Amino acid sequence: MNAMILEAQKKPLVFKKVAIPEPADDEVQIKIKACGICRTDLHVMDADLTSPKLPLIMGHEITGRVTKIGKAVSGLQVDDFVGVPWLGYTCGKCKFCKRGQENLCDYARFTGYTINGGYAEYTVANARFCFKLDGKYDDPSSAPLMCAGLIGFRSYHMISTSAKNIGLYGFGAAAHIITQVAVAQGKKIFAFTRDGDTRSQEFAKKMGAAWAGGSGENPPEKLDAAIIFAAAGELVPKTLQDVDKGGEVICGGIHMSGIPAFSYDLLWGERMIKSVANLTRQDGLDFFDILKDVPVKTQTQFFKPEQANEALDMFRSGKITGAAVLVME
Ligand SMILES: [Zn+2]
Ligand SMILES: [Zn+2]
Repeated sequence: MNAMILEAQKKPLVFKKVAIPEPADDEVQIKIKACGICRTDLHVMDADLTSPKLPLIMGHEITGRVTKIGKAVSGLQVDDFVGVPWLGYTCGKCKFCKRGQENLCDYARFTGYTINGGYAEYTVANARFCFKLDGKYDDPSSAPLMCAGLIGFRSYHMISTSAKNIGLYGFGAAAHIITQVAVAQGKKIFAFTRDGDTRSQEFAKKMGAAWAGGSGENPPEKLDAAIIFAAAGELVPKTLQDVDKGGEVICGGIHMSGIPAFSYDLLWGERMIKSVANLTRQDGLDFFDILKDVPVKTQTQFFKPEQANEALDMFRSGKITGAAVLVME
């Protein structure tokens, strides 16, 4: 099969023919329909994340059809349409797994990072971590739901339900999905982009944001909560300044540049800072349940798999509006 391979970090991916992977007993083999590109892929490539399996097939926003089943798999059949997210395996035994925080599992494995992912024609995945999807997700534009959607949702879910004014910092794949969910639930979204990025600000308003501006600007109203999707640590003191007393600041990314020192005054008033790590399978079930009532439309730009380097470069330089997706068929 054709695959885009990361042979070494800080190097472009290499287009190669490799053997189609065969499923182990607890795995399914999947013919991939589409695989979204996530900011985490850039962090893997650029060595912000330091421990990838190498060589590696990146990609953890996978949708596709099951083509083969391992002997011990139950609950999935050949021809089922599935989604494969970032969380690829957890031990089920450590203290985090036992208390319902499998996203923090000490022995977790991650799709497209410590196990092969979806920048290829086929992949194998542990059946217990695949989401069985109905036919409406067959369109390649659904692929970003598997991470941008899920991590966005976990970040949003961390905010107390009474929060009304929510700031989103960095308006890309995750923010544009979660804006649609939040607006449908009666929230008011304030979108912050890079200063001067009027294209992303227009996009945010089109997705339902009540206000959009540069991250250096002050929102017109105090915020109850903020989610930072951008990997920029200097946004943490800025968001603390933007949120009201009791406000929550959620850092939604897997990597962030250093957070500058800030005055305790900014944290005072029971403001909180929290990070979001990975996802649980329950997050996925909850998210797809909500999508039954909220018709989320993703804005996507499609690429062929062999154009992955080009797509990653465009993404890195902020030239993608919404999400980039590799389409295999
Ligand atoms: Zn991701
Ligand atoms: Zn565990």
